Amino acid sequence: MNKIMISIFLCLVIGIAKAQESEIIKSKGYTLNFLNNDASFDPALKKRMVETFFKVYPVLAKDFNKNTAKEVTFSIDTSYKGVAATGGGKIVYNPDWFKKHPGDIDVVTHEVMHVVQNYGRGGGPGWLTEGIADYVRYKYGVDNAGANWSLTPFKPEHNYTNAYRITARFLNYLEKSNAGIVVKLDNAMRTHTYKDAIWQDITGKTIDELWATYAANPGT
Ligand SMILES: [Zn+2]
Repeated sequence: MNKIMISIFLCLVIGIAKAQESEIIKSKGYTLNFLNNDASFDPALKKRMVETFFKVYPVLAKDFNKNTAKEVTFSIDTSYKGVAATGGGKIVYNPDWFKKHPGDIDVVTHEVMHVVQNYGRGGGPGWLTEGIADYVRYKYGVDNAGANWSLTPFKPEHNYTNAYRITARFLNYLEKSNAGIVVKLDNAMRTHTYKDAIWQDITGKTIDELWATYAANPGT
């Protein structure tokens, strides 16, 4: 590296360091590291995200996985273009999404469930991972109504493999006659004991039989 290159490099590093704000918040035995590289990010939204984390995460830990990470990182990152993504104990959020959808606070609930899930590779099908996360958003969300978010109304062309809200609606239906099935499925995915026969082991019916029964009478 020549001198000019080194100067440019240092400017970039200092620039990034300046733009990056970080705060460590501790409560109820949990730690949230809040990183933010968007100077225009609304402090009221940050406050709401932090409050949602400390309200929801300890409850999900208790109900689903007592060994979940005690420390989680939220990163508001202008370079990330999806809505949000979770890897390990770190969740990256796109600030533009929240600017356009400021009420969508339960993106936090969905994403922190992914931290709790912690299935690693080979836990089971991806559609079920996302279905469980949206079922949890539906059941534990702090303000789904404020985001105008609800389970997708049933349509005949749906299938349980559609993931997200479509699978979540099916899981919610199954909970009515098989209370605790989501906890069992979640645990099987985390312990890598999930297999196709698990649906029959829990309910006495295969998943296709369960779906056929649901599709015949999906409720409103
Ligand atoms: Zn997800």
